[in-house]
Amino acid sequence: MAQRRSRGPGREHNDRVRLVTAIVIDGREIARASRARTAERVAAFTVANGYAPGLATILVGSDPASAVYVSNKRKAAAEAGLVDVHHHLSGDAAHEDVADLIDRLGGDSRVAGILLQLPLPANLDKSALIDRIVPKKDVDGLTARNQGRLARGEPGLRPCTPAGVIELLDSARVKVEGASATVIGRSDLVGHPAAELLLRRGATVTIAHSRTRDLPAVASQADILVVAAGIPGLVGADHIKKGAAVIDVGIHRTATGLSGDVRFDEAASVAGWITPVPGGVGPMTIATLLANTIAAAESAAKDLANRGIQ
Ligand code: ADP
Repeated sequence: MAQRRSRGPGREHNDRVRLVTAIVIDGREIARASRARTAERVAAFTVANGYAPGLATILVGSDPASAVYVSNKRKAAAEAGLVDVHHHLSGDAAHEDVADLIDRLGGDSRVAGILLQLPLPANLDKSALIDRIVPKKDVDGLTARNQGRLARGEPGLRPCTPAGVIELLDSARVKVEGASATVIGRSDLVGHPAAELLLRRGATVTIAHSRTRDLPAVASQADILVVAAGIPGLVGADHIKKGAAVIDVGIHRTATGLSGDVRFDEAASVAGWITPVPGGVGPMTIATLLANTIAAAESAAKDLANRGIQ
């Protein structure tokens, strides 16, 4: 699951020697294992219920990055044995068109999960549309209901990327309970829910953001550092406590390829564990989406069976 990379001095130019002493957490491998477990659950569900559960994806408009994300999610869903239910609306779709579609999918018993790809065109009311999704089918964990459940520590569907961050820490056997954790970023999608999840797991949590004074001083106190600021190379060695687990949620396209919010090489010489970009958090987001979808299907089938008994 995790591999230790150790480059001795002399294998690089001597004037640029840097030891990668951190364990590199292999998100691709952890995601692969998670997806295989999901596929087994989907197969068992399909046998037991006589149909395969569906994941509905809604794409509004033609943002190229969103189109790629949706197509990756659909492909992964199909690979896991889920039914791919896709709706592509034009960028000038009216609020009511999207709302009606969400309602229709909400009433379709074979659709286990509904994913509304963000960002939405500016004329649509994002919060209202997200909250239109039946909470039990909200596989992105973004409705007010599911965010409230998370804040209360009640069971519910959790946002995919933050849940993936926790799974990476668990797979690498990083101890969360009692650890001091800093999350850089307070977005609804990543930073804030990641902090909630860490808090629920017993970490002492600090949330840093764009107004934080002296980020290196705050970040370098943390045993677990989750970086979700959306700024290429924001975090370097001076932000990291020796031996800390560093989870990089950022992903940026640069001239030399994809890179994260963390300057990997210098961070890896201080951290105890680190996730690479690509191949760290990214693959976990889709794996968690699939896991949420089968969990939603299983829970809906259980509700139906319980109603039958009464
Ligand atoms: P994402 O959805 O990937 O979390 P957003 O762009 O929505 O990304 O949010 C970025 C977050 O990062 C915000 O909460 C912001 O306060 C935080 N952030 C931005 N710049 C900095 C910075 N220089 N230092 C610390 N946090 C930052």
